[in-house]
Amino acid sequence: GGVAPSPPKDLFVVNSPNVEYTDAEIKSKYTYRTTAVTKGSDGKYVATPKETKYDFKVDRKVPKVGVLLVGLGGNNGTTVTAGILANRRGLSWATRTGTQTANYFGSVVMGSTIKLGTDEKTGQEINIPFHDLLPMVHPNDMVIGGWDISGLNLAEAMDRAAVLEPTLKQLVHKEMAAIKPLPSIYYPDFIAANQEDRADNLIPGSKACNEHVEHIRKDIRDFKAANNLDKVIVQWTANTERFADLIEGVNDTAENLLKAIETGHEEVSPSTVFAVASILEGAPFINGSPQNTFVPGAIALAEKHDAYIGGDDFKSGQTKMKSALVDFLISAGIKLTSIASYNHLGNNDGKNLSSQRQFRSKEISKSNVVDDMVAANSVLYKEGEHPDHTVVIKYMPAVGDNKRALDEYYAEIFMGGHQTISIFNVCEDSLLASPLIIDLVIVAEMMTRIQWKAQGEDGKYGNFHSVLSILSYMLKVSIHSSPVPSTNSAQAPLTPSGTPVINALAKQRAALTNIFRACVGLEPENDMTLEHKGL
Ligand code: NAD
Repeated sequence: GGVAPSPPKDLFVVNSPNVEYTDAEIKSKYTYRTTAVTKGSDGKYVATPKETKYDFKVDRKVPKVGVLLVGLGGNNGTTVTAGILANRRGLSWATRTGTQTANYFGSVVMGSTIKLGTDEKTGQEINIPFHDLLPMVHPNDMVIGGWDISGLNLAEAMDRAAVLEPTLKQLVHKEMAAIKPLPSIYYPDFIAANQEDRADNLIPGSKACNEHVEHIRKDIRDFKAANNLDKVIVQWTANTERFADLIEGVNDTAENLLKAIETGHEEVSPSTVFAVASILEGAPFINGSPQNTFVPGAIALAEKHDAYIGGDDFKSGQTKMKSALVDFLISAGIKLTSIASYNHLGNNDGKNLSSQRQFRSKEISKSNVVDDMVAANSVLYKEGEHPDHTVVIKYMPAVGDNKRALDEYYAEIFMGGHQTISIFNVCEDSLLASPLIIDLVIVAEMMTRIQWKAQGEDGKYGNFHSVLSILSYMLKVSIHSSPVPSTNSAQAPLTPSGTPVINALAKQRAALTNIFRACVGLEPENDMTLEHKGL
């Protein structure tokens, strides 16, 4: 299958003996510079500059990509689908305040730029669209499909979501009405009881089983064949589930998880069944909700199959602000002492989260995002000391998708003084999440076309680790922070032991851009601008 390869269309070339372009590939030889630190018996640190040489290889052929969303008929699913259709057709529509044209604002890949370098003559910065850094897939070319336990077609589901303007909805109505979500699996114990009335589009059976895994695998294969796709990415944007209990012998190892599915164990969630089916089908799977879809056995299965997974929970509004603001405060030497986060929202996500066990999943994912920044500052915080942190979410039907997030940051400043920062953030939740869904597809797909190896070893090129932590800019929780490690010592560790979780937003973006830069042999972006600092 597949469509004729798009010819490589580059905005720039890298002029370096370390970079080689062929029709099929970009190859780079890259020197990764770090600092190794040891502590002597006298308590003094010794910092030693270290160089590691890697070879990167990028497949230049942009494939035809399909996206399968679990929860296609929800607010996010319908909004991202209509948004892509509108962009593809270059639509404009009338609004109260004038004509609006389709765009990809809020997508880091489609909406932001990166500094390529400085103009040799003028010394001015040259910035290029992020999307042009590597040969990435364009969202207008993505084919969208997916599953939902609610059988409404996407035109009806888009009306139910109440996110988009009626004028825009009219323009995409016909195409949206033609998309009907595939039936899905529904295990009522995992999502709120208040979701039951929309569950009318179901694959029979109410607990995990091999038939469900096989059914979903076949859906993925059929979608790929029907649309002549080279690749499919699967993303969970269905309701937040409760956490699954981690039970030895059930979901701790890949083998046990497969056995638990086979025997219909009650603790295997629908999202884990989707993850397992995607892993076995070789389709990258991303979890946009906070529950622990990636139980240790699911991560082990992904590693075993060299499959890519990413999660958990889209980082759209409040948490994104938090991971930028807390980094700023603590890096500024200001001692943050408490964060109080209140949310209210009136969409179906809010309704589902009004149930205690589902709220708990969200509470955990929203709370874990400051620990690394606090731990890194031993000047302000004693070992084990943390700011107080509370998260409240309430369902308020009247505000619909226009979620409110109220945050108070309370900090200690010079000589016992205090600073209180209060943020009131209002935005359409699904309009924030949709571009993230797109970014996650673009970056995850790009990662499937990058391979690397350590130089000097005659070993073959290999993939990145199965857990795509490079996606963390778009996601709240790094899934390798799973609280309960695998109990089977024969299993590979979830990540190389002690892999640090990085939550600071700017660092996450830098990791993303700098790894992509390395693929074309460019140094990390640094802002030293020595060329302007005179000699
Ligand atoms: P939504 O309730 O509008 O959509 C979820 C959809 O999933 C519904 O149509 C529902 O019928 C369907 N569904 C439930 N269980 C399913 C299953 N087993 N299989 C297939 N479909 C199933 O919610 P939303 O606003 O689109 O958000 C989706 C998810 O994304 C939520 O879990 C939410 O917490 C998470 N999230 C959203 C944001 C945001 O900014 N919008 C941010 C972070 C996380």
